[in-house]
Parts: sequence; C-alpha cells; structure tokens
Amino acid sequence: MPSLIVDAHAHLTDAPSAAELDALLARAAERSVAAVVTAAARPDDWDAVSRLTGRTGKVRLAGALGIHPWYASMAGPGVISRLREAVCRLETPLIGEIGLDFGPKGLAAAARERQRELFAAQLELADALAVPVVVHAYRTGGEVFAALRSCRRIPAVLVHGSVEPVPREAVSERFFFSFSAAQTAPDRRRGREAVRRLALSAPEQIVPESDYPAGGREPSGVVETAALLEELGARPSIAAARFSEAFGLFSPK
Ligand SMILES: [Zn+2]
Repeated sequence: MPSLIVDAHAHLTDAPSAAELDALLARAAERSVAAVVTAAARPDDWDAVSRLTGRTGKVRLAGALGIHPWYASMAGPGVISRLREAVCRLETPLIGEIGLDFGPKGLAAAARERQRELFAAQLELADALAVPVVVHAYRTGGEVFAALRSCRRIPAVLVHGSVEPVPREAVSERFFFSFSAAQTAPDRRRGREAVRRLALSAPEQIVPESDYPAGGREPSGVVETAALLEELGARPSIAAARFSEAFGLFSPK
C-alpha cells in the first residue's frame, strides 16, 4: 500500500454544500489522503477555489486557477490580467485547469482556434510567473505537448486523465500524469494500456486523481486508484512525494 497519498486533480468547489465538502474531506483524512489539488474551470470559480486553499485541516488543499477549454468562450477581454492577480494572491500559486479538447464535446463548446489562443495565453502567463500548470488534453494529437515545449520556465506540469500518446521528450522530469478509476478500473482496457505504457518510462511520475465530482468519485477513493496504478507498474507513493514537492503542496511560498 502506497504510503504518501495525494489526489492530484479534483473540483471540490462543485460540492453541493459546505456540509458535503466537510464530509468528503473527513472521509479523505480518515483514509490518509494528505493533499488534494482542486482546480477551477471558469473565472467564476476563482474566488471559491482561492478561499478553499486558505482552509486549515487534516487534508492540505492547493488550488489552481484558470479557464478550462470547455469554457473558452467565457474568457472576455482582460481575463488574463485578472488571472494573474488572482494567481499571485494564492499561497501556492498554480494555474489550471487549462488545455485543449478537440473531442466532440470540447469542439461543441469552443472552436479549435479559440481554445488555442486561450491555452497559449494562459501558458504564457504560467511561464512568466514560473508556476506549475494543471492540463486537460483530449484528442489534441500531441498539440498540448508541443505548446508546452517552448515554456521552459514552467517548473512542473500535471497532465490529468489523458490517454493521449505521450511524446518521449514529455517524459522529462517536470511532467506528471494523473489517472482516476475511469482509466484504471479492471474493465478499462484503453486507460490501463496507457498507464502501463507510461509506467515503462516514467513510473515515478504517475499519481492518482479522483476528478471529483466526475463519475461520483471522491478524494478518499484515490487509495484504491493508487493500488491499481501500482499493479500497472507505477510507483505512486514515490510519485506523490515528487509531485508534492514540484507543486509546493506542503511548502507554500
Ligand atoms: Zn478537471
């Protein structure tokens, strides 16, 4: 059983009530989940995510602020400077969830070009501030990795829940990959294959995520996901320690 457990990706601000949020964090603490990275999806999440990160409790909470590709059309003028201000106020500055989604749902929400512009602008900000990013990548044909290549000052990247092929150079030390039960459960052939392949070259860069509230999963469940990752050749406990360090989870700036 892995010793250090973190939930690398969740949307805790989607909890239906404060009481439910308290309850799910209590369940996570009971199962020794040490930290959760909770990501914003839209500008109207930023305040709530920022407030959560100041919360004290048994589970350390770090928040990422950004605009998810599904909400690219919500990004009006001035949004990047507002993002800069909000990120700089965080105890542990992180930018996310950002990325590209060229699947049917993503393209129905925002055109390719709009997604590209917004992703590039958010990456440029992360690069200028030298803060880690949380990235969504779906059917991008490697474009997410290509965009990250020139952002050398971004110290760490989490690519979450993605089964896209990972180019060799992306397996460099700054990259982490998170998977939930949606990719690792025994009946998920494609996801398990993706994890197995990645575990051959980057076993210590693979961490579990709940992606709460997706699929009814919650942070306490990453304990099982970590065990599944281990079966597939990953070393989630070592990866969690490296990820925590790279994302500053236990050592706010
Ligand atoms: Zn997400």
